[in-house]
Amino acid sequence: MYQHFPDVRAILHPHSLNATLISKCFDGAVTLENYELLKALPGIDTHECKVIIPIFENDQTISRLAACVSRYLDHNRGVYAYLIAGHGLYTWGASVQDSLRYLEALVFLFECELRLYRVNNP
Ligand SMILES: [Zn+2]
Repeated sequence: MYQHFPDVRAILHPHSLNATLISKCFDGAVTLENYELLKALPGIDTHECKVIIPIFENDQTISRLAACVSRYLDHNRGVYAYLIAGHGLYTWGASVQDSLRYLEALVFLFECELRLYRVNNP
């Protein structure tokens, strides 16, 4: 992460309930779109946007998992976080305070998506 984002000084990796659950409900990615709270993420100043949170398969071989994430980051911009299936979330920022703000927003938005998922998949 530090190689991809030179301004990053804090990476958070919580095993939050919402992050773990949502990683099992969606294949490949979670799309967060038209939420006011997306403005908590850096460089976003309108709800009229789409943020894709990729989901990677869990892997006990960390070097292989890191290579998979690195390949994704090489080919995608506007990545604010990623999920590991059945495991948790990674997000990052220029400070612990920034990263905590992103984490709080993402966990809330995951809750929104999980509730919508339950409505759409009774
Ligand atoms: Zn972990």
